[in-house]
Amino acid sequence: MKTPEDFRKILMSRLAELDSRLHEIEAELDEPHSKDWEDSAVEREGDEVLEQLGQSGLDEIARIRAALKRVRDGSFGQCVQCGEEISHERLETLPDTPLCRNCAAAL
Ligand SMILES: [Zn+2]
Repeated sequence: MKTPEDFRKILMSRLAELDSRLHEIEAELDEPHSKDWEDSAVEREGDEVLEQLGQSGLDEIARIRAALKRVRDGSFGQCVQCGEEISHERLETLPDTPLCRNCAAAL
């Protein structure tokens, strides 16, 4: 069985990984655009993909930060909705989830 401290380490390393990926994406978004119209149309599509990646990355970072806060205040592993314990199996798969299986299913 993993302890909240184990989950904290998992969450921290995931956060570091996302952080460096986002910095790479930001660096690419900052690349100057080609002046050629056709090239820049293709580049724009690529940029939208990058921006979406960035957004889902940002969402995940927010979830991980919230989970780390729950580790600190001792409520990690409890559903933020109903207060029931989140199953260990579920936390293994989704360490940043704030919800138990029942509440997640009710969304
Ligand atoms: Zn719940």
